[in-house]
Amino acid sequence: MSSAPPHGHASTADATDLLTRERSLDPESWDAMRALGHRMIDDVMTYLASIGDRPVWQKPTASAMKAYAAPLPIGPTSPDRIYDEYLEHVLPHAIGNAHPRFWGWVTGTGTPMGMLADLLASGANMHAAFGDQSATHLERQVIGWFTTLFGWPATAGGLLVSSGSTANLTALTAARDAMVPEFIDDGAGSTNGAPRVVYASNEVHNSVDKAIGIIGLGRRQLRRVETDDQYRIVPAALERAIAEDRAAGRRPICIIGTAGTVNTGAIDDLDALARIARRERLWFHVDGAFGASLIVSSRFRHLLNGIEHADSIAFDFHKWFYVPYDVGCVLVRDQATLQASFSPPASYLAKLDRGIVGGGVSYGGLGADLSRRFRALKVWMSLKEHGADRYGEQIDQNVAQAQYLAGLIEREPELELAAPVPLNVVCFRFAPTGVDGEAKDALNREILMRLQERGIAAPSSTVLGGRFAIRAAITNHRSTRADFDVLVGAVLDIGHEVVAGL
Ligand SMILES: *Cc1c(COP(=O)(O)O)cnc(C)c1O
Repeated sequence: MSSAPPHGHASTADATDLLTRERSLDPESWDAMRALGHRMIDDVMTYLASIGDRPVWQKPTASAMKAYAAPLPIGPTSPDRIYDEYLEHVLPHAIGNAHPRFWGWVTGTGTPMGMLADLLASGANMHAAFGDQSATHLERQVIGWFTTLFGWPATAGGLLVSSGSTANLTALTAARDAMVPEFIDDGAGSTNGAPRVVYASNEVHNSVDKAIGIIGLGRRQLRRVETDDQYRIVPAALERAIAEDRAAGRRPICIIGTAGTVNTGAIDDLDALARIARRERLWFHVDGAFGASLIVSSRFRHLLNGIEHADSIAFDFHKWFYVPYDVGCVLVRDQATLQASFSPPASYLAKLDRGIVGGGVSYGGLGADLSRRFRALKVWMSLKEHGADRYGEQIDQNVAQAQYLAGLIEREPELELAAPVPLNVVCFRFAPTGVDGEAKDALNREILMRLQERGIAAPSSTVLGGRFAIRAAITNHRSTRADFDVLVGAVLDIGHEVVAGL
């Protein structure tokens, strides 16, 4: 191995130089950096206040792609110039989820206050790994707000994570270790060849498949149970599947209910699932990535009935709580279960009687990350800014908008709904008479791509009953009814254009 730096650039400073001219990475001129910071804040506020006037998405240009391919900078660039590059090549090619007509996948909009909270969290650069410090205490407070909302006992706890996917992974790890305690030390060998089985509906999110694979149960041990015509799990089919697995010598360990399926927004009967889990002595996990937000909605909270019996819940603040990326949340009925999975001994992390590690929750011992950002601040500030009731109303507004969009589609003879609209997800198609099957799929794919390429609106897509559908998931606090009018008008216009061969 050569000892030369990989980029072949030898440093010229010797050790004496380094100590006689000590430097830091702070700006040479605090005044210049302050002015640049003010400019950035002004620009981003203007951007957000007028975002609806811009295209939703613009494909990165050739010159932007060239900028993205530039090699590692070896020498310095001035902060002003770096910011200019950001304005020229980065900001214009954002995916667009802050825009009022972005309804693709399930994305979050963000808020100015949430953004400022992240500025403060990064500015002070507090980590939230452990310690008697504000970051861990605020996280404990936010977690406590939600375990209380979900009706859980004082033993409950949890932590903020990077995403709903990681929240599912964290909860399912705790479930595995609570149900198969020897797994954590002995691994798959501890199961004596008897597969451990996890149950969910066939509408389960693929982050659960990922998690089951990662935690070593094997993806094939995720049983996908049939759903009804509303895309909800069929409890009787679940009971049958559990009985069949037991009869065949397999070992059921966990039932997963989905509150808000990604395809259509369906909510499983959580009460029925809780009863089956209790009777069968299985861990009951709820994936409520966006649907669990209904807990703050006085109108729709009842749809989550039964969630109070769950052993764990995964949900996102960055989806239907509109908090900027990234922040997901995993809650467990008994915080000790997370500790059992994620706190192997480490002398360098031992608590002391007093001092920095004399208090505070050790979040590094409740999840996979030790070093972790101060995510609680933006959740804490956002919930204070508007209050929980306002979040409930904002969520209700999105559901009302989904009904509005569904109504527009139903009244338009050339459009069809592709699935029921129980919540905030609307799946539909352009369906002129005489176009069916694969031709209809191709037509709708083309419409969707043109909608996005022209920057008009950004729904995404899915496949329902084997057929392609345009899909709008409304978790956007900036959308108004007029935005849905624009969507429907553009789908019809582009549809006619494609049919005419233009
Ligand atoms: C979005 C989503 C996830 C994954 O959450 P991320 O934050 O994107 O990782 C899991 N389950 C459901 C139902 C989702 O909608």
